[in-house]
Amino acid sequence: MDLTAYSYVVVGSGLMGSVMAERIASQLGERVLVIEKRDHIGGNCYSAEDETTGIEYHRYGTHIFHTSDEKVWNYIRKFTAFNHYQHRVLSNHKDKIYQFPINLETINHFYALTLKPYEVEAFMETIRTDIKNPQNFEEQAISQIGKDLYEAFFKGYTIKQWQVDPKSLPAAIFNRLPFRKNYVDNYFFDRWQGIPQDGYTAIFQRLLADHKITVLTNTDYFEIRDQLKPDTCLIYSGPIDQFFDYKYGKLSWRTLRFEKEVIDKEEYQGNSVINYPDPEVPFTRIHEPRYLHPEREYRKDKTVIFKEYSLPDKGDNPYYPIASTENHRLLNLYKEEAARLPNVFISGRLGDYKYYDMHQTIARALEIFETGIRPLIPTHHAV
Ligand SMILES: Cc1cc2nc3c(=O)[nH]c(=O)nc-3n(C[C@H](O)[C@H](O)[C@H](O)COP(=O)(O)OP(=O)(O)OC[C@H]3O[C@@H](n4cnc5c(N)ncnc54)[C@H](O)[C@@H]3O)c2cc1C
Repeated sequence: MDLTAYSYVVVGSGLMGSVMAERIASQLGERVLVIEKRDHIGGNCYSAEDETTGIEYHRYGTHIFHTSDEKVWNYIRKFTAFNHYQHRVLSNHKDKIYQFPINLETINHFYALTLKPYEVEAFMETIRTDIKNPQNFEEQAISQIGKDLYEAFFKGYTIKQWQVDPKSLPAAIFNRLPFRKNYVDNYFFDRWQGIPQDGYTAIFQRLLADHKITVLTNTDYFEIRDQLKPDTCLIYSGPIDQFFDYKYGKLSWRTLRFEKEVIDKEEYQGNSVINYPDPEVPFTRIHEPRYLHPEREYRKDKTVIFKEYSLPDKGDNPYYPIASTENHRLLNLYKEEAARLPNVFISGRLGDYKYYDMHQTIARALEIFETGIRPLIPTHHAV
């Protein structure tokens, strides 16, 4: 295949890469080559039917689409309809199930009380530990919700998820976590929320359906990059440190491992996601994807669950960037290099080394197309 025939090359077929390819083909009328090293399109949003149960699951962890961004919502609905799924999370502490994030039901259940919303503040005063100027995540947590709730729902979970001592995390992180004095148990409050009716992978099939787009799966960019035209406009959504051959060092990541079990019951846990914060339980969550599609008729004799384990990434499956001074320093060095490259756009969760929700990834792709790629058209047409 002659790779020099393409003026636009996109690395990665996740949301960043696929939205960019769709925009370039449909808005500029240009041919685009999409290179994907996995054997499937869709990046970490990939979904498929489980072979034993027929239940649609998300291979890289449960994905709930939610947004209040009208531009993103109008864009993505051209490629899918959404069902009416609303995300609610539960937490299993010592074999008792609590609503999460902490709300009035959680507090009443935990302390065997019947508080009203207007009584919560006075009660919290009795369980908080008085700490002047909390210096870290743990101190902030126990000064806001007390030691018992902190240890039940946050301490073990944080240690398992990040493998760090919560005392080494900034206090500000705790303030970003929701706490509700009422019974509202929705996880998200966005204007729109749901799961794509035909699953996530169908979105990517439609995004990449234009005949001007060629997709090469099982193809690693680093193995073919020498065959591309030197002036190719490159949209790269892989890890930024790898793009520069790790010249300043490696960014570190957390990864996840999922353990699948088919259970001979119609329903196993009664909810799509349950957290397991206790330190003696080795996994962090159990996903049961049958609840993501209440509109579908699934078989009644079996269900499928996935236990989620968090571990350090060895370099092959990066999931979550790790906030540390060293990673921040390296990222800045790589970003400075990237800014000096004409016609190269490095972005997405791996390229920006940043956790993006799906709507944020789409917004970023639309922005890069409008502000970075579109203004290049005269140059490219002249070539
Ligand atoms: C566990 C988990 C749960 C999540 N849940 C939600 C949720 O509920 N709601 C929500 O809105 N968002 C969620 N997200 C975020 C969502 O997954 C991201 O916003 C989205 O996947 C980012 O898309 P992307 O294209 O930047 O990256 P990716 O989807 O990772 O795509 C990058 C692609 O580039 C490919 N690639 C990398 N290097 C190369 C190379 N050298 N050559 C060729 N191809 C390469 C990769 O194989 C991958 O397919 C979740 C993320 C995780 C990790």
